[in-house]
Amino acid sequence: MSFTLHGIPVSRGIAIGRAYLIAPAALDVDHYLIEPDQIGAEIERFHVAQERVHAELDALREDLAADAPSEMGAFINVHSMILNDAMLVQETIDLVRTRRYNVEWALTEQLEILSRHFDDIEDEYLRERKADIEQVVERVLKALAGAPSTASLVAHNAASNGHNEMIVVAHDIAPADMLQFKTQAFKGFVTDLGGRTSHTAIVARSLGIPASVGVQQASVLIRQNDLIIVDGDHGIVIVDPAPIVLEEYSYRQSEKVLEQRKLQRLKFSPTQTLDGTKIELCANIELPDDAQTAVEAGAMGVGLFRTEFLFMNHKDRLPEEEEQFEAYKRAIELMNGRPVTIRTIDVGADKPLDSMSGDGYETAPNPALGLRAIRWSLSEPQMFMTQLRAILRASAFGQAKILIPMLAHAQEIDQTLDLIQEAKRQLDDAGIAYDPNVQVGAMIEIPAAAIAVRLFLKRLDFLSIGTNDLIQYTLAIDRADNAVAHLYDPLHPAVLNLIAFTLREAKRAGVPVSICGEMAGDPTVTRLLLGLGLTEFSMHPSQLLVVKQEILRSNLKAFEKPVADVLAAYEPAELATALGALQKV
Ligand code: PEP
Ligand code: MG
Repeated sequence: MSFTLHGIPVSRGIAIGRAYLIAPAALDVDHYLIEPDQIGAEIERFHVAQERVHAELDALREDLAADAPSEMGAFINVHSMILNDAMLVQETIDLVRTRRYNVEWALTEQLEILSRHFDDIEDEYLRERKADIEQVVERVLKALAGAPSTASLVAHNAASNGHNEMIVVAHDIAPADMLQFKTQAFKGFVTDLGGRTSHTAIVARSLGIPASVGVQQASVLIRQNDLIIVDGDHGIVIVDPAPIVLEEYSYRQSEKVLEQRKLQRLKFSPTQTLDGTKIELCANIELPDDAQTAVEAGAMGVGLFRTEFLFMNHKDRLPEEEEQFEAYKRAIELMNGRPVTIRTIDVGADKPLDSMSGDGYETAPNPALGLRAIRWSLSEPQMFMTQLRAILRASAFGQAKILIPMLAHAQEIDQTLDLIQEAKRQLDDAGIAYDPNVQVGAMIEIPAAAIAVRLFLKRLDFLSIGTNDLIQYTLAIDRADNAVAHLYDPLHPAVLNLIAFTLREAKRAGVPVSICGEMAGDPTVTRLLLGLGLTEFSMHPSQLLVVKQEILRSNLKAFEKPVADVLAAYEPAELATALGALQKV
């Protein structure tokens, strides 16, 4: 039966394919598809792990002290029985066979299915047996981790005409997990939770594939392998579409491919407005190799390298200086002389580190207002110095800039600049090269920073406005919370006036300023930002050409009056009229 779900559009385009439901537990293990000829070997891996756990349980039983309570032995027996139970074993094997999941994925998927059954049980004793199954699965996963994997990551290369492409459907996906999908051939994303500028949405956008988030109940209502359409322009998900709907969307999909192809023609033309104002378009990247995509899309540099993604998926430790240095150097070399703005680690809020868990961090009363970004770095000076040295060392190989997130206070700026000096001194002492003139800039993403921007203009070489957080903190709307997503409004008069003020003050002081939040890559506000005086944009490479198209059609002189009207408008109707006029000139 066909039905439609509504969510928040976060990444444009249309995807048509089969739903791949990812259970929360499955996110903690690798998930990849195996080749048909690897199925036998994968099932064998499972049996070997099963045997190993049997042996472990037998050893435990034998080691039980004579005076151990009798329940201990009974528990071990229950676990042995679960380990042989068809509901766990046979169903897992079936998932490996029919869906070609690697065994860890199949096992956690089956655990999720069983858990749901248990949650429905009235009898408390039986309901609690769920924990036993979880413990057994955990043992098997550990045994599997010790055994080499027979399967390699398989890029799914199904032909699109059979609608065999994979679309991930999940309750929620952490940014770090989303990052793992970069290497896999998923064609779309749907999640129950999330907001327009949550970091998960940002990474989905960077993958350039259609995505809708905040599609409540999607992971419950959509079944494994359902045929679905994701309309990333409108946030709509159509499940089991009627043939005529499918045809319409296939047509729209091909139209979009044509549009994209047409945009490619703009790639080599200079970026300037009709009246000759030069505009600089840079790219936001998450991983060093994204720099390649940035160059291919025609970016003049990297305006934001979100280095925290290098730090994620490191279970027990942060990357060493050498590893970081290599990563920054790689991005710098790929950009081939163009500037690379490396933002120091911005963890916290919706981007926790694995190594942060367990130290009380996750229970912070309000992580978005807590020890995030530079606040965290200043509280971990050793970690911060390691990163600063790595960035400075990489600066010897091209044009690097250092960007600091979430600054608000003068003493934070001063402390940060002192640490950068100290990192330079350490490199001098060790005789290691770096660019002594490396520029240091600040993100303007806290309202206090925008209002007190003069503190920043005096101390820093450049500014970059992070509209994602500026909106979140100005409006007190958690950017990752779909319950308040309708109130997350980039065009709120307070937000627009803060952006306008920052741009004006920076211009007056002669300090370069860019915008690297998601607004920079939204072609519907390009005219407005140009009219406010913005000349440097940084966005995901996938957005560069569509924004450039808007710039090439813009006449700044004609924007003056409507933009002044936009800034003066406080009533929604007035604002809508002023914005409408701006689109027409
Ligand atoms: C922002 O806040 O606008 C920004 C660019 O940084 P991030 O999205 O990583 O918080
Ligand atoms: Mg930010």
